[in-house]
Amino acid sequence: MRSYGLKNVKTLGAALVTLALLTTACAQDNGGNAAAGGEGRIEVVTTISQIAEPVSVIGGDKVNVQSLMGPGVDPHLYTATQGDIAKLGDADLILYSGLHLEGQMSEVFEEIGKTRPTVAISEQIPEDQLLKDGEGATDPHVWFDIELWKQALEHATEELKKLSPEDAGAFEENKAAYFAELDALNEASKAKLAEIPEARRTLVTAHDAFGYFGRANGIKVVGLQGLSTEDEFGVSDIDDTIDLLLENGIPAVFVESSINPKSIEAVIEGAKSQGHEVVLGGELFSDAMGEAGTPEGTYLGMYGHNVDTIYEALSGGGGGSE
Ligand SMILES: [Zn+2]
Repeated sequence: MRSYGLKNVKTLGAALVTLALLTTACAQDNGGNAAAGGEGRIEVVTTISQIAEPVSVIGGDKVNVQSLMGPGVDPHLYTATQGDIAKLGDADLILYSGLHLEGQMSEVFEEIGKTRPTVAISEQIPEDQLLKDGEGATDPHVWFDIELWKQALEHATEELKKLSPEDAGAFEENKAAYFAELDALNEASKAKLAEIPEARRTLVTAHDAFGYFGRANGIKVVGLQGLSTEDEFGVSDIDDTIDLLLENGIPAVFVESSINPKSIEAVIEGAKSQGHEVVLGGELFSDAMGEAGTPEGTYLGMYGHNVDTIYEALSGGGGGSE
């Protein structure tokens, strides 16, 4: 479905050979006992930080969690580096989101999955709860529905319990406390976003990352690109979006931290040329979170930042009801 560039094929081939060597060496080292990592902790490697950070909370001091993709990184286009392959080779457990989010890494997962648990946590969610686009492709941006992401994190927790059954109680306790925070955030977010005047409750972004967010919070969502940043967008997409903004008096559009802002800037310029002032509502975190050590480097903080940014931009200008 997705075509690799020739360069990527070569890189991937070399990476897979390295991976095969590493996994053989590793199996000899610890006799295949997955949980025998340093200091008795479970070594977890994830693709995106939206998995890594919550799993580090749930796993507490029983796990070491590393995310391959940091701030500003686009998972749709990401290819594994040699450094990533080494990290995967040292992991007891690999958690990725799946549903083709990490579309360039499927061969790597297949190879590493031969030697250790390699789990796509979003693919455990029942299909009837997932969104599809007009062409039948499943929307992979599941973390923007807190209820669905809890399900994915449940599966991650089960994997931790399998590797360290004696810590199951601690994992469950941490998870319950964390899920209570997620529930509180979910409730507060829905209430806040419902205050935006209904006609303006439209979120225009560069790519279709917010379908689940929109469904969960009663917001119409328009992405200039499709579900993957590999999809194309055209002049007609920009024109249709400008029409929508004009018709509904929507005051703002948004850029994403991991996406080139040029399509959104074209919408703002286009609207301006038709005499309609549309402002940049701010930067949202879509496929990547913020820097570690900042509030937006956590799942809760990232989600909250998006809610606040959307609320401020769309409810302002005298139409808000705060
Ligand atoms: Zn995306």
